[in-house]
Amino acid sequence: MGAVRYRCSVPASGEHAKATAQAIERWFTANARVLPWRTGRTPWRAFVSELMLQQTQAARVAERFDALIADFPTPAALAQADIDDLLKHWQGLGYYRRARHLHAAAGMIVEQFDGTVPLDVDDLLQLPGVGRYTAGSIASIAGGRRAPIVDGNVRRVLARLHGDPGRSGDCDLEDRTWQRAQELVQACGDPAVLNEGLMELGATVCTPKSPTCGQCPLGNSCQARADGTQAAIPAPKARRARPVEHLQALLVHRRGRVLLTKGTSDDRWAGLWQPLMLEASAVTAGSVFDSRLTACVMSTIGHVSHTLTHRQIEVDVHGTEAPAGVRLAGADHVWTDPADPAVPVSSLGRKILGVFIEALDRDVAFA
Ligand code: SF4
Repeated sequence: MGAVRYRCSVPASGEHAKATAQAIERWFTANARVLPWRTGRTPWRAFVSELMLQQTQAARVAERFDALIADFPTPAALAQADIDDLLKHWQGLGYYRRARHLHAAAGMIVEQFDGTVPLDVDDLLQLPGVGRYTAGSIASIAGGRRAPIVDGNVRRVLARLHGDPGRSGDCDLEDRTWQRAQELVQACGDPAVLNEGLMELGATVCTPKSPTCGQCPLGNSCQARADGTQAAIPAPKARRARPVEHLQALLVHRRGRVLLTKGTSDDRWAGLWQPLMLEASAVTAGSVFDSRLTACVMSTIGHVSHTLTHRQIEVDVHGTEAPAGVRLAGADHVWTDPADPAVPVSSLGRKILGVFIEALDRDVAFA
């Protein structure tokens, strides 16, 4: 296979890497957003924030961070807590596996690192939920190590800076990007400032759809800007259509409370609560039969579409008043206020509860 060819206005020399790193550091020092994890920085605050920030925008994490840290101020405090207490803080953030990783990592930090977050990349990589990017981020930001980082923001900034037309997800582009990030972190003054600055530049200036090149500290040396190819770099991933999964939600209610069940350890909602869910094929002609319930006649009260990274979920929502003596043998279940559940509920579950509350507001007649 031939090598990828592209013009590059930013030679990979030490001098150019140094000039680029300095420009980013100066810009970040003057323009950093005020975010909760940037004040009173400790390794634990950096660790928690990095796991929360995986796949989630900083503004959403900022809404939750202080309350979570107040309840779990140290790895030991989190390791001793029930996972449900952590999941309550995580409600609505999605990607709940991260919460379980954070809980497990806290336990490992206590057992293997005397309760102190390790700051070397190799040690960090042993912890659940920590990959190359997260390890580099914590090691550089909390530990000052010269560890490179590459996430979506960094990948975009560096591809545009170098006018690199590689496709997102392409292994060669990935290798080149890590190499460029390594050169910058070696040449910079402060790895914490450089790495956070790179991420911040991608999040706020070199954005995917409308980069504000006039405000960019790299504007004078950026190849994509010179070529007018910002919109085409990086080339998007070849997309496969998301498979669609059809489910039925069964909202059983009585006296203003709804029945929620807890996900089992082998399903995608492990540890989180939501209404009873069935595959579409289990529904017949207005009657819904769940093996854990007696047969109930359900009213269809709405529909929810929920998009996950690799899957589209379409859910018909049904409601019914609980038949007398309903039992859920063997299932974890709870009757709770749909507007303010007492247990951590998945994002999909919260959407379904929203449909139910709207139906109550519209006085929909339940069967
Ligand atoms: S000049 Fe524009 S395209 Fe280039 S790095 Fe800056 S914001 Fe991105």
